[in-house]
Amino acid sequence: MPLIISTWSFSSRGNDTAWPMLASGGSALDAVEACCATVDAAPDVDSVGYGGLPDASGRVSLDGCIMLSPARCGSACALRHHLHPVSVARRVMERTSHVMLAGIDADEFADLQGLPRSELLSPEAKAAWETWSTKPTVIDQSRDRLVAGLRPIDGGPGADGRLFAANAPRASGSEDRWKHHDTIGTLAIDSHGTLAGACSTSGMPYKVPGRVGDSPIIGHGLYVDPTAGAATATGAGELVMGVCGSFLAVELMRQGRSPIEALVATLERIRSSYELQPHHQVAMIALRPDGAWAAAALRPGFRVAVRDDAGSRVLEPDATLLPESS
Ligand code: ASP
Repeated sequence: MPLIISTWSFSSRGNDTAWPMLASGGSALDAVEACCATVDAAPDVDSVGYGGLPDASGRVSLDGCIMLSPARCGSACALRHHLHPVSVARRVMERTSHVMLAGIDADEFADLQGLPRSELLSPEAKAAWETWSTKPTVIDQSRDRLVAGLRPIDGGPGADGRLFAANAPRASGSEDRWKHHDTIGTLAIDSHGTLAGACSTSGMPYKVPGRVGDSPIIGHGLYVDPTAGAATATGAGELVMGVCGSFLAVELMRQGRSPIEALVATLERIRSSYELQPHHQVAMIALRPDGAWAAAALRPGFRVAVRDDAGSRVLEPDATLLPESS
């Protein structure tokens, strides 16, 4: 029964940290926190924790959340001094009557909880930001510098944002295309049948300072309901937020859809709600209380990392809705 699944291939190292806990009867809650903490601490992952790419001002900010059920969830966003947003979020859940803390006050809350401050900007991320600030086409987000938004399909105001598209040459269907775009969303079920989920990110690279995406928002980047299932998302957070993506996927499972049917329907909702651009990617994973799970993506290049009794593996999603360049 125990299982942990996480977004993107780099998360297999987090799954491997968490697996011994799950395999020895530990809790899904501890497992998802440990999984995210491992990835947060890895300097080579440039979209989560230490090593995460900074905002347009050159400062890193981190977002995360954790959830067991509608009555037990916590979130912390826009942290500038604490490496593990999920651990801050867990303390919000367990030690306050609130769900979400933000910004400088969230950092001060983490201090009061005894969580250590640490430097979030790695030398590599600083160098990448310096390059971007002089040559913004290295990461194709030039229009984000003008505070552009997504253009809704109904023709509402706002130019189309260009999120996350890298210009580097790449193999077709490779994860490389989305390499700055890699929130860890992780879902686990333990030997007692308890579901838990967590999500940790440095958000969109070179984002407008103050921007918070889907990842730390309950129902958007993550949702867990023990009676229906769990889902988490990665990719262009603004697309997920417009449809309450993770909540929607869990509600569809509650109505009887399988995990893959729920994910495909959620991604179809995203496809029909926006004028998608070739650089837009969203990927999701879902887990049902009986252990059935699925992964799906809008575009090729997504991977899901899985750890269970059968071992550790990195897999292609069960469904991909769009070709690479449409
Ligand atoms: N969903 C994250 C955000 O919008 C980014 C990502 O998954 O890379 O902040």
